[in-house]
Amino acid sequence: MARYVRDFSEGNKDQKDLLGGKGANLAEMTRLGLPVPPGFIITTEACRAYMANGELPPELRVEVTMAVRRLEDSLGRSLGDFHDPLLVSVRSGAKFSMPGMMETVLNIGLNDASVLGLAKFSDDERFAWDSYRRLIQMFGKTVLDIDGDRFAHALDAMKTDRGVAADTELSASDLQELVTQFKAIVREQSGRDFPQHPREQLDLAITAVFNSWNTDRARLYRRRERIPHDLGTAVNVVTMVFGNLGPTSGTGVCFTRDPSTGRTGDYGDYLPNAQGEDVVAGIRNTLTLADFEQLDPTSYAELRQAMRRLETHYRDLCDIEFTVERGKLWMLQTRVGKRTAGAAFRIATQLVDEHLITLDEALDRVTGAQLSKLMFPQFDSEAERTLLATGMSASPGAAVGQAVFDSATAQEWAAQGKDVILVRRETNPDDLGGMIAAVGVLTSRGGKTSHAAVVARGMGTTCVVGADALVVDSVARTMTVGTRVVHEGEVIAIDGSSGEIFLGSVPVVPSPVVDYLEEGLEAALAHLPQEDGETAELVSAVDRILTHADSVRRLHVHANADTAPDARRARTWGAQGIGLCRTEHMFLGERRVLIERLILATQDAERQAALDALLPLQRADFTDILEQMDGLPCTIRLIDPPLHEFLPDLTELSVKVALAAEQAEREGLPDDDDAAAERARDVALLAAVRRMHESNPMLGLRGVRLGLVVPGLFALQIRAIAEAAAQRVQDGADPRPEIMVPLVASVMELHLVRDEAERILAEVARAQDVALHIPIGAMIELPRAALTADRIAGAAEFFSFGTNDLTQTTWGFSRDDVESAFFPEYTERGVLNVSPFETIDTNGVGRLVRIAVEEGRSARPDLTIGVCGEHGGDPESVHFFDAVGLDYVSCSPFRVPIARLEAGRAAVAAGASDSR
Ligand code: ADP
Ligand code: MG
Ligand code: MG
Repeated sequence: MARYVRDFSEGNKDQKDLLGGKGANLAEMTRLGLPVPPGFIITTEACRAYMANGELPPELRVEVTMAVRRLEDSLGRSLGDFHDPLLVSVRSGAKFSMPGMMETVLNIGLNDASVLGLAKFSDDERFAWDSYRRLIQMFGKTVLDIDGDRFAHALDAMKTDRGVAADTELSASDLQELVTQFKAIVREQSGRDFPQHPREQLDLAITAVFNSWNTDRARLYRRRERIPHDLGTAVNVVTMVFGNLGPTSGTGVCFTRDPSTGRTGDYGDYLPNAQGEDVVAGIRNTLTLADFEQLDPTSYAELRQAMRRLETHYRDLCDIEFTVERGKLWMLQTRVGKRTAGAAFRIATQLVDEHLITLDEALDRVTGAQLSKLMFPQFDSEAERTLLATGMSASPGAAVGQAVFDSATAQEWAAQGKDVILVRRETNPDDLGGMIAAVGVLTSRGGKTSHAAVVARGMGTTCVVGADALVVDSVARTMTVGTRVVHEGEVIAIDGSSGEIFLGSVPVVPSPVVDYLEEGLEAALAHLPQEDGETAELVSAVDRILTHADSVRRLHVHANADTAPDARRARTWGAQGIGLCRTEHMFLGERRVLIERLILATQDAERQAALDALLPLQRADFTDILEQMDGLPCTIRLIDPPLHEFLPDLTELSVKVALAAEQAEREGLPDDDDAAAERARDVALLAAVRRMHESNPMLGLRGVRLGLVVPGLFALQIRAIAEAAAQRVQDGADPRPEIMVPLVASVMELHLVRDEAERILAEVARAQDVALHIPIGAMIELPRAALTADRIAGAAEFFSFGTNDLTQTTWGFSRDDVESAFFPEYTERGVLNVSPFETIDTNGVGRLVRIAVEEGRSARPDLTIGVCGEHGGDPESVHFFDAVGLDYVSCSPFRVPIARLEAGRAAVAAGASDSR
């Protein structure tokens, strides 16, 4: 088999790595017997070879010749022929579709001779010259890098000169003249003649596709989407079919379900007598599929059948491009379509109900990121608001921001921290930077399949398109509706679900999915207006998939919650316990003075007085939380941060003391007792702050070290926990506190804390006459703890990975110092793909986690192991924690549903790979 080239009949949809997405799916459609124009694919391997050597591999030239000849022989036509020429399109197609790649060049093979052949074969001279001028225009712009405006201006000048409005009104001889002008532009701008030889056109176009893999826009997109830079792109060479051969021809795009809402039923746009992207470029108003059916029932019926066929085959929503050439349907592209978060959930459950996929598969079709999008607030429909216009909903969400009219301004203002909405007539690939920077995108032209809609949906950015009541003037930087002129910088609000555009800001309300999570399915459905069946379907779909995730997942999901209200919320959102209850906030506010006294105490009696005052307060904290979490584990971490965090700031205090000293020198010591006492306290405090000052507090006296050095501190907390639990037991409740010791590096530290804790627990149990079993465990957040996990497990009933500190100490950088300092540079230069604080670094930090799990369990088989860093709510990290066999992940309450979903997905994915 050839090395670098595959005919469509030789591939299939699973070969996206080699054939790119577009090529693999063209091959698949060919295999299914759908009407795909014949063609071949140049593989990504050829692109990689080209990138490595800087030139096309010699075998590729030979293989292309053979493929072209096979094509010519099968069709009985040849490239450049002046009777009935074969024409082809050259289309880029990487594994993932991405902006910045070369745009498709149509009509390759036309030249001064074959244009006459095309005219004869089609019996349409106008069409032939129009095709030729399009080729020179597209080729000049995308392959020869000539400013596209030059061609566009020449075309406009011609229209003005002939007094016509649309290019369809230009005559054959007008277009022939335009071809002459276009050729002159090419010569002038590129210093060479437009290549007449079809093979040269083809080779130049292929090389241009390969080069486009490394455009800035493509690289930017790959970085954002974490796509490796070394995949390379494939090139598709496809026999041309013509949608611009008069009224019985046309071109269209369609979806087998609505990708923005998930509504069932097909959806699409069709434009008669048009070629390529005319249909999405908003140059003329498109027809709906229903109109298309009226116009050409036979082609429509065939399309419907192909859509059904594809949906059954892919068992998912498909996105299709097609062309009708004189009443004959041709399929030009399909793929599993992108969709909004809401559509993803609805479509997944629809497919289950249609018995096309299983619930396990449905779970695999949605993501935690999509669920989190559905949890965003929406505009308050009750609120006062001024409707400016209504466009088409293209990508949901509620965005409020200042209107800007070009991509550069959007990026500039966003960099200054402003929320902006990018307003354009229509967007094109040059707008990508602005679209990324904006909180919302609004266009006055184009449909749901326009560039703006497709790109915004992909990025999850709120988008409204086709608001044709708006007159957008990017030069004056205004948009006008009737007499109302909106200037750059004015605040507007757009609703990506309804397509509405409002003047000024609009308040937002919580999402129905959040309502469901809080109140349950029945209540949430009851809150919806009767007529809102779509939202009801969405909420039910979320419930169904989340319930299924709960039934299959192996990981428990706990929440990080420090207060009773947080604990309550976490529990309603499905948390099965608290994985991390931090106690430091309990020493702030009015209690700060007690901590100060504890730190400043020089005698045992003073210290004890401070501790005695703290005890009942701390006990009450724990009682409240245990009450909220009754019957569920509640892991309480003993105080962790360095004590100086509870004391005044060093500089401020130094200044205060110095000023007081100066005043005393001038005016003598104050005779007022209170003032004197305050001065004395400040001086002592300053000494303490100085004493405790550390150059690297993150690596200083904190965590268990603090507990061992400051007498009574941990004992106070342990006693408070024990007494709170004992009280709850006496009240007939089921408290399940666990004591977690932070920053353990050596098992000896843990032994010391444990000895003291056991003594206190036993004492409280005896005094209150209740049985108390309160497990004591270690936070594993230092490499040494992970590496000595077998020994630590000897003194710990559970482990909980503090992956934030573990990441800091493994990499040797402190999060607060490095994230803004050099992460951008590191990401740019490829050292990091993503912040290791967001997604766990599986190779380094993850390796330590694996070691600790393995050694911990071998020393103590019933060891409970969880993770309590924010990684516990990060989708990718959840999959990792599932794979290494943790018992639970713990994350902030808001991310609990996301972790539940992803834990379910992880279990399904692991199950699938086991059975493979
Ligand atoms: P994109 O990836 O931007 O969708 P495509 O390669 O799909 O680019 O092509 C751009 C336009 O040209 C699409 O409308 C497509 O249907 C059309 N097109 C591509 N190849 C052909 C062909 N051989 N005949 C007719 N139209 C084509
Ligand atoms: Mg395109
Ligand atoms: Mg396409």
